Amino acid sequence: MNIEKFFNVPLKADLNIPKGSNPLWYQARERIFTMIARVSAFLGTASLLLTAPTMTSLLETFLPYALILILVWVLGLARNIRYRWRAVSFLAMAYGMGVVEALNYGFSVECFVFFMGFVSLSALLSPRRGSLATLLLALVTLGVFAVAIGAKMFTPFVVLARGGTLSPASVQAGINNLLVFSGGALAVTISIIALLENLQSAWQKESASLDLLQQERDLLEQRITARTLELQDAEVKYRTLVEQLPLVAYRDSADSAALTHYISPQIEAMLGYSQSAWGEDSELWHKSVHPDDREHARQTIEETLRNGSAVMEYRLFSIDGREIWVRDNSALVRDENGQPLFVQGTLEDITAQKQADEQIRKLSQAVEQSGSSVVITDLDGNIEYVNPQFTKTTGYSFEEALGQNPRILKSGRQGIEFYQKMWAIISSGKTWRGVFHNKRKDGSLYWESATITPVINPGGGVTHYIAIKEDITRQKEVEDALHQSYQAQSVLNSLLSLALEDQTLEEMLDRALNVILTIPWLPTLPKGGIFLVDESLNTLALKSHKNLDASLLTMCGRVPFGHCLCGRAAAEAKTQFANCVDTRHDNTYAGMQPHGHYNIPILLRDEALGVLVLYLDAGRARDPREEAFLEAVTSVLASMIRDKQAERELSQARDQALDASAFKSQILSRVSHELRTPLSGVLGYAELLQFEAFGALNDEQRNAASQIANSARYLEYMIQDLLDQSQIDAKSIALYVEPFSPAELLARVEASLSTLARNKGLYIQSDIAPDLPASIVGDENRIQQVVVNLVGNAVKYTRQGGVTIRLYRPSSERWAIEVRDTGAGIPEATRAYIFEPFRRLDNSITRENRGAGLGLSIARQLVDLMGGEILLESEVDKGSAFTVLLPLIPATGEFT
Ligand code: ADP
Repeated sequence: MNIEKFFNVPLKADLNIPKGSNPLWYQARERIFTMIARVSAFLGTASLLLTAPTMTSLLETFLPYALILILVWVLGLARNIRYRWRAVSFLAMAYGMGVVEALNYGFSVECFVFFMGFVSLSALLSPRRGSLATLLLALVTLGVFAVAIGAKMFTPFVVLARGGTLSPASVQAGINNLLVFSGGALAVTISIIALLENLQSAWQKESASLDLLQQERDLLEQRITARTLELQDAEVKYRTLVEQLPLVAYRDSADSAALTHYISPQIEAMLGYSQSAWGEDSELWHKSVHPDDREHARQTIEETLRNGSAVMEYRLFSIDGREIWVRDNSALVRDENGQPLFVQGTLEDITAQKQADEQIRKLSQAVEQSGSSVVITDLDGNIEYVNPQFTKTTGYSFEEALGQNPRILKSGRQGIEFYQKMWAIISSGKTWRGVFHNKRKDGSLYWESATITPVINPGGGVTHYIAIKEDITRQKEVEDALHQSYQAQSVLNSLLSLALEDQTLEEMLDRALNVILTIPWLPTLPKGGIFLVDESLNTLALKSHKNLDASLLTMCGRVPFGHCLCGRAAAEAKTQFANCVDTRHDNTYAGMQPHGHYNIPILLRDEALGVLVLYLDAGRARDPREEAFLEAVTSVLASMIRDKQAERELSQARDQALDASAFKSQILSRVSHELRTPLSGVLGYAELLQFEAFGALNDEQRNAASQIANSARYLEYMIQDLLDQSQIDAKSIALYVEPFSPAELLARVEASLSTLARNKGLYIQSDIAPDLPASIVGDENRIQQVVVNLVGNAVKYTRQGGVTIRLYRPSSERWAIEVRDTGAGIPEATRAYIFEPFRRLDNSITRENRGAGLGLSIARQLVDLMGGEILLESEVDKGSAFTVLLPLIPATGEFT
């Protein structure tokens, strides 16, 4: 334990200070009290220990002494006990000890010491009133003792017990002692009170100024807090403002290193680098600047440092390599001494603006170089801009056009309603498209196709009009020409379509004239005629006419070649034009109206077939385009006339041919019929002769009879063929259809031709496919006739080998008879005509064999009648195969 601290105790910090007390003094008093108590206890204990051995009565002296000391120790050590109680107890003890001393010894030094201690300690430790009360109590107590002892009313106990001198000896002496004591005590009390008063007032003054100071301090603190809040508020406000601007704000060091002190977070959105990256990497800005812009950026920083501010535009690379155009608005901030502090500014992303600028640059270049005229006007139509093409097209320079109204281009060819309609459309905010017929500065006219579009501002209002125009004069001319040629074409087409109709030449000419005179765009009068050449007389005959005067009709019914305009056109094979009734008009009559003419020869390969004459108003100029068109019309007319004439000739020829054919058929059938009867007689008698009905014959006679019979038989076949052919020609042949057996038919054919074949050393083979029905419906005799013809030919035109007949079914609907031989074959070129009547091949084997050339013709026509067809495959010197395909109608009933 620290001895010094034990006695020289520190101020008790947690002392409970009553209101209104000077805390310093209150604390000092407690401290003084504690120190006094401890010192007293210590000294008392020491003296007790020193005096104890000399003590006679432990009970009377040591014990009370010891108890008092314990109390003092407690008061000195237990600082937690309330100070007031501790002080009062201590004072009460001093007082008590004084009283005990007086009771035991009367007025003694110890008694006065105790009382003086009581008074002075009270003055020191209690408030003023307490100390005065203490002084009074001490004086009263001592007064009582002075009087009691001085007047011998009370003898102190020790004196009484042990004897000794009374003190005070008398009342007088007591009062004297009291006066001395009270003088001293008063002095001590007053001085202490005075001291304390001074201390108190000093403290009050000090605490008042302290209060003031405290108030000042509080005020200051409040002001500082308020200001701090204000500043914080402002900071937040400005930071929010800065960080919400569509710009990046920055502050860099004021040197060429330009280290970033602050950069607003928008930088992240702009370049992708985080806000903190800029503080961490001092080179980041330099690295991000586009290499091409670095020098420019460096110069601008220097300019900022030199002039205090600068604006520059340059490119930065974003973290992902995009090129970002920025506008850097920088300013130098200096301190109050003018020393540079830092450079601060904003970065604005102007990429979109740059792109827009670029776009505008491109667009304006496009407009400037455009091949279309571009005109921009204000809402009243005053020209604000024209491009070079406008100047090229119209002849008006930019300066001449500026401020003018586009009506300077008006040609007057388009009505007022045209322009009114256009204005109504564009002033309602819509786009107008149309074609202007305008006039250039030099007065020449031109066509332009235009699109006029209102320019609408973001608010939706129309601010300007833009016209984009294309010179379409050339196109228009081409279009007109095309249109004309289309119209011409459609006239020619309608003329040509007349040719297809079933009508006479005269009817056709009438209708053609009608078409020509009603062409709306042809400036001819609805009056004219068509002449045709009468070759035998070298004249023109009027074949068709419209609205011609009666006198003219008689005069011009026939016009000799070379006479009048029409005769000249025919004779010279050249168009005659007249714009008045001139000397070439040979045919005139009284009352003839003045007129002009187109007289166009109708030429076919330079040969005039006729003349087209058209009337014109007198004075009408010759138009080469009209003339060319009319010549096209007459050349179409020429071919139509020629076709009609050819058609007429052809139909006459056909009629004659038909008559001849009918006559031939008649003759044929009659002759055949007439021949057949005597021939039957010849054959009958020849056979009777052969069979020796008229007596025995020698070999020569038998041979002759056989020759007669053979020749008669051949003639009979021939006549039969001729009859069939004439029947077919006369379409009088009929088919008799009924079920028959194809196998039996085949057997009959083989039987009838096998002798002939065998005589020539040829074989005849036959085959019937198993899927062929046993019975088929058809004209058995006619089918047999066909097969006999084919097999007969095969035998006739084959020198070696033979003939194979095959019946089969190539499909479910048809059956086939194939006759294949190993004969001479039929050349490709002749295959088409051997089926025609009387046509034979010109080769040796044909010449060796008799024939009329009717076999195949009859076969083909019969098969046609049956709804079938004959196919032919052949190779010269190898053989031929004729295949007859017939509809397959299987018979029902007993045969199936
Ligand atoms: P033709 O009475 O002459 O036989 P067709 O009409 O039957 O008359 O035949 C016409 C011609 O076709 C024959 O003259 C012959 O030249 C030729 N021809 C017909 N069939 C055959 C065949 N199988 N082989 C070669 N030539 C044939």
